[in-house]
Amino acid sequence: MSSSRRNFIKKATAVGAATAFGFGYSHTANQMLKNVLLDDRPADPISGNAPKPEFSVDLKTGKLRLNPDQTVAYTMCMGCSTICGVRVRIDKKTQKVLRVTGNPYHVLSSEPFLPYETSVRDSFQALSRYQEKGLRSRSTACGRGNAVLDKLTNPDRVKVPLKRVGPRGSGMWAPISFEQLVEEVVEGGNLFSDGQFDVLRAIRDLKITLDP
Ligand code: SF4
Repeated sequence: MSSSRRNFIKKATAVGAATAFGFGYSHTANQMLKNVLLDDRPADPISGNAPKPEFSVDLKTGKLRLNPDQTVAYTMCMGCSTICGVRVRIDKKTQKVLRVTGNPYHVLSSEPFLPYETSVRDSFQALSRYQEKGLRSRSTACGRGNAVLDKLTNPDRVKVPLKRVGPRGSGMWAPISFEQLVEEVVEGGNLFSDGQFDVLRAIRDLKITLDP
């Protein structure tokens, strides 16, 4: 290959890589420009615009400081069939869920989990960096668990039962009432215009055991 042809390919590759980099990081670049030009800086250089923590622990003394604007509730995540225990941070004023995190008392989100008699105050300390306790008692929810708060507020969330009204895989759905849902799940029938479905009432049998 001639030297000029090699140089041309090198330059074209460099331009292509720079363009791909530019597209890939366009959001980041935009954000950086916004920060510099409009002085639109995040509230904190490390935690950005994340809500303030619900508590903090003095690393030297272990003294706990609670955030008076937030409360914490212990509940279960319905993000999937695992149903992990989670800890939910709530803004007291707006009653909005701010974050979903792991429940240190729950076997599915903390290993080892805290004994139930542990006070909530002690559980906060156990999650903190005080004496590096948080490394042992770290309690987490998965990414999906963190995102379940979208179920409360996302404008695209599903609020009513949806029934398929086109061929399987066509992505065609229509909202139906809960009464229709129960009726069809129990009684079956030609539900999707493509054949008979015998469902709950037809298969319910309290006399024959599955595994005699
Ligand atoms: S935290 Fe994750 S794994 Fe656990 S129930 Fe929620 S979605 Fe499922």
